[in-house]
Amino acid sequence: MQKEKVLIIGSGPAGLTAALYTARARLEPLVISGNQLGGQISITNEVENYPGFPEGTTGPELVDLMQKQAERFGTRLLIDEVTEVDFRQGPPFRVKTNGDAYEAEAVIICVGASPKRLGIPGEEEMIGRGVSYCATCDGFFFREKDVVVVGGGDSALEEGLFLTRFADQVRIIHRRDELRAGEALKRRAFANEKISFVWDTVVEEIQGAGQVQKVRLRNVKTDSSSDLDTDGVFIFIGHYPNSDLFKNQLEMDDIGYLITDEKMMTSVPGVFAAGEIQDSVFRQIATSVGQGCAAGMMTERWLEAQEE
Ligand code: NAP
Repeated sequence: MQKEKVLIIGSGPAGLTAALYTARARLEPLVISGNQLGGQISITNEVENYPGFPEGTTGPELVDLMQKQAERFGTRLLIDEVTEVDFRQGPPFRVKTNGDAYEAEAVIICVGASPKRLGIPGEEEMIGRGVSYCATCDGFFFREKDVVVVGGGDSALEEGLFLTRFADQVRIIHRRDELRAGEALKRRAFANEKISFVWDTVVEEIQGAGQVQKVRLRNVKTDSSSDLDTDGVFIFIGHYPNSDLFKNQLEMDDIGYLITDEKMMTSVPGVFAAGEIQDSVFRQIATSVGQGCAAGMMTERWLEAQEE
């Protein structure tokens, strides 16, 4: 059993910022990265709205810079995945990974969120065979092909725009006739001649022999169904919090977002949370960084108070 002062689970913007703050407070945090170092932004191509980068930056660059900055002050980063936690009798809190077991005086949970699935026939079987949740990862495979994007929010438009670098045609299928996405992205998408929209429509099935070949669509206003030939289906319909590990241990809302107080503390004193695991509203790099900072500062104060 390895003993730690501060254990941070997750290495996205919230986790790396919590690490920076606790490292600068000389708490030598250990970050357990999860299976995707940097979290969701590590697969985000363009970042235009994170302050300090007037020309924009990329997700991987930002992760690299945040990691270096956290490590400069003594953060240790471990590429491993947490498999089990026991917060019921702490502190110290118990955390198991694939490779080891830990006891920590304080824990900061920054495990983020994952892309939602449509839950339709053909989706699961065709992942990696034309179904994708990441344009940055898979867009390259669709050079000169036709793809559809499902969703009407910022992600659908941003990723759809990115896909126009490769695909000949990008059809965005949205269940309403009004986009949820912000004005700037809407303007860019409407102006892009490779992008067209299929309104008031849901995808009911993904079909193909070993590889995506077509989608079955239903117009929700007329209730009429049709088939559309396509080579790829990119799904961007929101996210769900990665909170399964904490069920029956920490309070969460109906969807599974961890409940934190104004000091980023969960229902267990000494266990804090930051970023998209507890934020269903803002979900920005800038807000996750802010929440990671707050969680780091509050962890330091909480540990100090325990010693008094
Ligand atoms: P989102 O804003 O929740 O949008 C999800 C979209 O998917 C909505 O248009 C929704 O339709 C649709 N949808 C949900 N469930 C569906 C289903 N079962 N079938 C068909 N369509 C479905 O999610 P997001 O686009 O991932 O964005 C999440 C957050 O990140 C937002 O706060 C967004 O502003 C932010 N974000 C920002 C940027 C940026 O600033 N550049 C980029 C990406 C994300 P309805 O509209 O009908 O509900």
